[in-house]
Amino acid sequence: MQVTDDIAKVRKIRNRSSKLTWGFVPTMGALHAGHLSLVKAAKKENDKVAVSIFVNPTQFGPNEDFAKYPRTLEADIALLKELEVDLVWMPTKETIYPTGYETYVQVEELGSTLEGASRPGFFKGVATVVTKLFNVIEPTRAYFGQKDAQQARLIEKMVCDLNFDLEIQIMPIVREENGLALSSRNKYLTREQKEQASALYAGLKIAEQRFLEGERSVEILHALIVAHLDKDYFKIDYIKIVDSETFEEIEIIKKKAYIVLAVYLGSVRLIDNFLLNPSTFME
Ligand code: AMP
Repeated sequence: MQVTDDIAKVRKIRNRSSKLTWGFVPTMGALHAGHLSLVKAAKKENDKVAVSIFVNPTQFGPNEDFAKYPRTLEADIALLKELEVDLVWMPTKETIYPTGYETYVQVEELGSTLEGASRPGFFKGVATVVTKLFNVIEPTRAYFGQKDAQQARLIEKMVCDLNFDLEIQIMPIVREENGLALSSRNKYLTREQKEQASALYAGLKIAEQRFLEGERSVEILHALIVAHLDKDYFKIDYIKIVDSETFEEIEIIKKKAYIVLAVYLGSVRLIDNFLLNPSTFME
């Protein structure tokens, strides 16, 4: 496994003229089983796999956790070595954003709703860094988690709009036994908060059950989830049911839709989602 921070070296290893396929998994490190599921999928479907580790400053707001975002580089590299990843690129901040840097990528509508509305600048930072990572790695396929469903869709849209010659693969959410979606930020939760956090997935499953029984009203499904969350613990940022492509709010579910949510548990912001597919019927 080659580990480097150097763009020229990455390009040399990637060797554009070679016919080998490259799978690419962009991450911010603090790797867990969710990230590793993307790496495993990339291993299966490509000749070579590259992983980037870069805590991207431009996607953090001024009052967010950039400085204290968990950084576990040695452990990350050991995990990637075990999975026989071919290339780990961990660029420095100065490599990605040298002095005088001023070019940004913005997905206008999709990037300004929900996560984009709650975290101004977030998707501009994500779209910009992913563009730069794609331009250096030039992957055949890039892997993203459904955990960040709006982000995954935004990247798909950007790849289509900007004619990137690569495929985007979106992989299922990996969860803890109690249903909590794995996240590097779960490290901020106390044990008690982790237990409380299981109510999120339980709420989503209650809504799914009613949906599978035939309920299509967003108002009713939304109310079920809200009722399941104890207001003493959870502060809701948003809970919405949206079209799975545009992320626009809907009233009646007629095609694939996401339940998307962001809540605060103490000072920790958690996001989760669930895909509702009207063509799934109960056995
Ligand atoms: P991050 O390091 O948080 O930027 O995440 C890197 C990639 O891993 C993103 O595509 C995430 O959606 C994905 N990811 C994070 N958590 C999970 C999870 N629990 N299950 C599946 N994918 C995940």
